[in-house]
Amino acid sequence: MRLMRELFFTFAVVLLLVQLVLAAEDYYKILGLDKGASEKDIRRAYRTLSKKFHPDKNPGDDTAREKFVEIAEAYEVLSTPSTRKIYDQYGREGVEQHRQGGQAGGHTHDPFDLFSRFFGGGGHFGHAPGHRRGPDMEFRIGLPLRDFYTGRSFELNIERQQICETCQGTGSADREVITCDKCSGRGVVIQKHMLAPGMFQQVQMQCDKCRGQGKTIKKPCPVCHGHRVVRKDVETSVTIEPGMDKGTRLVFENEGDESPDYIAGDLVLILEEKEPELGTAEEYRTDGTFFRRKGRDLFWKETLSLREAWMGDWTRNITHLDGHVVRLGRSRGEVVQPLSVETVKGEGMPFWSDGHIHDHDDQGPGNLYVEYIVILPDQMESGMEKDFHALWEKWRRKNGVDLAKDSQRPPAPVKDEL
Ligand SMILES: [Zn+2]
Ligand SMILES: [Zn+2]
Repeated sequence: MRLMRELFFTFAVVLLLVQLVLAAEDYYKILGLDKGASEKDIRRAYRTLSKKFHPDKNPGDDTAREKFVEIAEAYEVLSTPSTRKIYDQYGREGVEQHRQGGQAGGHTHDPFDLFSRFFGGGGHFGHAPGHRRGPDMEFRIGLPLRDFYTGRSFELNIERQQICETCQGTGSADREVITCDKCSGRGVVIQKHMLAPGMFQQVQMQCDKCRGQGKTIKKPCPVCHGHRVVRKDVETSVTIEPGMDKGTRLVFENEGDESPDYIAGDLVLILEEKEPELGTAEEYRTDGTFFRRKGRDLFWKETLSLREAWMGDWTRNITHLDGHVVRLGRSRGEVVQPLSVETVKGEGMPFWSDGHIHDHDDQGPGNLYVEYIVILPDQMESGMEKDFHALWEKWRRKNGVDLAKDSQRPPAPVKDEL
């Protein structure tokens, strides 16, 4: 019994050790990346994760706060090629030693500072009082119906104002910003005017040395020329979920125009449906391209010849938006009335709402409604016309339908049509 207990205890200790090792997680893992990640991947991962775990968004959640700090740490190491190389070879300890040996204290490791370099606004979200928020940006994007049916992920480049990476939003070539000595950073100076002997008037004026900025720089940044921001194309990863409706607003938090003076507003993409056009690739040349959509349901017009509508014995293969085939058809003797509508259950759009696809009985995909158009021949060969005429006459006399009776008009003396 005692042996068992000891064994169990040892086992528990081992487990604990394993957990401790896991706790000091790999920087790549923290950012959800693998070792082959590009600089762009690293930047993108930081942008997404830092927003998600920002303490402003997770008030009172210490785990989120720790995670936020870890993400910043991982980004700082992996975004600099020199430290990334050291980390890849020697791990965290290697980076630590490098820091202590080299430029100790040269770099501040404030995660909020890093955050503000990405999103502006002093490292905080715009919800807190005193933090100004930039305007939201709205863009409309047109997508073919196919994308709404199958879903799609793609990259979109949109030109936006970005905090200058070279000077990290300082506008200064050496990234140093000097507090103006004339106004002590206040941007304003008080001037005293003597109105009369012993009588002074105090006037507040904009500081002429820093032009009201409160700060000066020695040499402007060569990239942004001291403007602290640049305009450039920024890639955004867009995911269209199957079944999303036109008019859906995809909100990318704090991905709007950036500025060091405020926290970036949201980037909003509004989905629109493009006019149908046949794709060039073979898999996109589907009948579904010309489906019409209304909410969850799809609509399609199928054309039948007179013979098919009347005599039956036909099939149609409709290629749906994702390439699968919906088979329609009637066996011999089955009549299809012109303008009648057939319901093909479950072949409509996937049902997407409240941010996810529904798959229950009452909330499953919509239907495909097929409306039948019947085309009568304009002309017949004379022989064929004669045959048909004789046939009609024979059967009209025998057992034609009385249309007058069917339409509830007074009865006519002769039976009219087949
Ligand atoms: Zn000044
Ligand atoms: Zn710059």
